[in-house]
Amino acid sequence: MAEKCQIIKTTVAVGCETYNCHKKVSYAIGRPDGPPQLWRYLCEDCTRDMLSCIPEELQPEPVKVYTCDYCGETFDASIKLATHSRTCEARKKAVTK
Ligand SMILES: [Zn+2]
Ligand SMILES: [Zn+2]
Repeated sequence: MAEKCQIIKTTVAVGCETYNCHKKVSYAIGRPDGPPQLWRYLCEDCTRDMLSCIPEELQPEPVKVYTCDYCGETFDASIKLATHSRTCEARKKAVTK
């Protein structure tokens, strides 16, 4: 299976490729099995900057969490929360108060 484009931790004796940034390269972006001269080299700061402004459509799906309003327990599916609600001790106390 071909390698995917990824961020590769590296140290090479060249400067960061970002315009006007001359820091030491810490990461390369490219395919590990591809020619390193085609990788894009970035310093740690620029890699961080890039990751902090990922366009919305490229961000990983946020994991939806269902929280029990009574005891605070969390579930990864609404059906599990519904099942839990029936037996939740904190809920029983709250509704019989
Ligand atoms: Zn940089
Ligand atoms: Zn609960």
